[in-house]
Amino acid sequence: MSIKTKVAWGVTFLFALILTIGGLGLYYLHNLARSSQQILVDNYESMEYAHQILAACESLRTDSAVAMKSIETSLTLQETNVTEPGEREASLALRSAFEKLRNTGLSDSVVARIRHASLALENINMKAIVRKNGTTQETAHDASTYLIIICTLCSLAAFTFIVNFPGYIANPVIQLTNSIKSIAGKNYEERLHFDRRDEFEELAEAFNQMAEKLDEYEHSNLARILFEKKRIEAIIHRVSDPVIGLDEKSRIIFANERALDILNLSRAELLDHYAPDVAVNNDLFRSLIKSAASDNQEKTLIKAMVGHKENFFTQESVRVRYSPTGEKERVDIGTVILLKNVTTYKEQDLAKTNFIATVSHELKTPIAALQMGVKLLQDTRVGALNDEQANITRTLHDEILRLSKITHELLDLSQVETGNIKLDIRKTAPFDIVRMATEAVQLQAERKPVYLAHELAADLPPLLADADKTTWVLVNFLTNAIRYSPERGTILIRAARVGNHVRLSVQDNGPGIEARYKARIFEKYFQVPGTPMGTGLGLAISKEFIEAQGGGVQVESEPGKGSTFSFHLPVAVG
Ligand code: ADP
Repeated sequence: MSIKTKVAWGVTFLFALILTIGGLGLYYLHNLARSSQQILVDNYESMEYAHQILAACESLRTDSAVAMKSIETSLTLQETNVTEPGEREASLALRSAFEKLRNTGLSDSVVARIRHASLALENINMKAIVRKNGTTQETAHDASTYLIIICTLCSLAAFTFIVNFPGYIANPVIQLTNSIKSIAGKNYEERLHFDRRDEFEELAEAFNQMAEKLDEYEHSNLARILFEKKRIEAIIHRVSDPVIGLDEKSRIIFANERALDILNLSRAELLDHYAPDVAVNNDLFRSLIKSAASDNQEKTLIKAMVGHKENFFTQESVRVRYSPTGEKERVDIGTVILLKNVTTYKEQDLAKTNFIATVSHELKTPIAALQMGVKLLQDTRVGALNDEQANITRTLHDEILRLSKITHELLDLSQVETGNIKLDIRKTAPFDIVRMATEAVQLQAERKPVYLAHELAADLPPLLADADKTTWVLVNFLTNAIRYSPERGTILIRAARVGNHVRLSVQDNGPGIEARYKARIFEKYFQVPGTPMGTGLGLAISKEFIEAQGGGVQVESEPGKGSTFSFHLPVAVG
């Protein structure tokens, strides 16, 4: 039976109870009212007539006509109101006595007969009233009894209904609410069971169907995600370079075979471990996570043994962020460390450096011979040259000088690259370096011409430096400055103390350098496009020389506003 029908029946039942109690009450009330009415009409009036006849008897002697009339009227009315057994006989006796009185005239015996009959009438009706009153009392008593019984039954039924019915409706609703909450908490195994044949059972069936579908969906999704995870893992394992993944709490979540090889760790020793814990016992891993946290990771090469061979890697760390559905802020979800094996490039670079070193070394002797030859040709003691020959030999001299400079630079560079650079570091006065460099370029400056100005701080402390190499660097800065300065320009050489260092700088008012080239200016073989001659090695070697001495090089330049090249070296202590 459906809930709707049940509710309808329940309400109908309560309605029927109200109707029953009301109906019964009315019925008994009506009965009681009718009984008393009946007593009034049937008996009380007859008693009243008898009473009037008796009263008239008293006045028969004094006022005979009125009394007779009164008896006549009362008797006639009584005769129409005969209701009790014996009343008819009493009325007939009264009538015959009254007729006799009318016919024979007033006599005591007749009056006595009338009185007697009247009293008999009164008596009969009085008894009837007493009897009927008893019956009415009984009826009232019965009515109360029945009403009490029915009321009790109805109350019991209504009470049972009130106690049970709300639960009957509310309990399944509560159960349903709890089950929905459980589903919302991803417990898709939740099921509802109502053992009743109504709408709630249908509801439970629909709910269970929904839960089953959700369960199925969740599992199919999970399977898909697992599959995708496997696929990504397979890809990562196939990557030929080492890859390591950390989650946002620095737990290692994946690492491919290559990564395990270079770290010399097993999968179990790495995966699911807290990265700093692994770093404690593994130097390479420590340097990897250290540079993953710093910014200039690409610049340092990482050395690692693969098999028995030394390999070199560059590191790139990517911080992975994503925006969760419906949110604007991006959340950090981990870091991926990618290593690139650059051993082959490194080997090729070394081979190239060795080749350059050999070639430039081999070129030194023939160049020296060429220089000697040209010098001899230019010596008038050997023989006079005509103007054209003198011109040719001058050009030859310049070109040989250039060739010599290039071979020297290449040799220096190869020494720097192979780590064969020999430094003679000692206490050196900054003034000496400035003086030697200025003397070296003096002629060149005069030839252009450009002016060399100095701005040297007094009381500069001595430097810890290799005087020759540092002078070479300053000469290189000055040569560039002279080359790029306009004619009659001024080149300013400065020396000043900056903390524990002394900074030497060369400022020119040449064309300046565009921002996009500035970062690359100290790279090997780099030349700003469109600039004349040169090898692009001077600044690279300068940088290496200064850094090898524990200093650093800088450039400040803006197109059209000139350039300032500077380097700093540590002050000698004590
Ligand atoms: P190069 O021997 O070719 O001059 P460098 O390493 O000395 O090589 O210089 C590299 C590049 O830097 C040059 O090609 C030039 O364009 C630029 N450069 C160097 N010094 C200056 C300067 N003072 N003003 C403008 N450009 C400069």
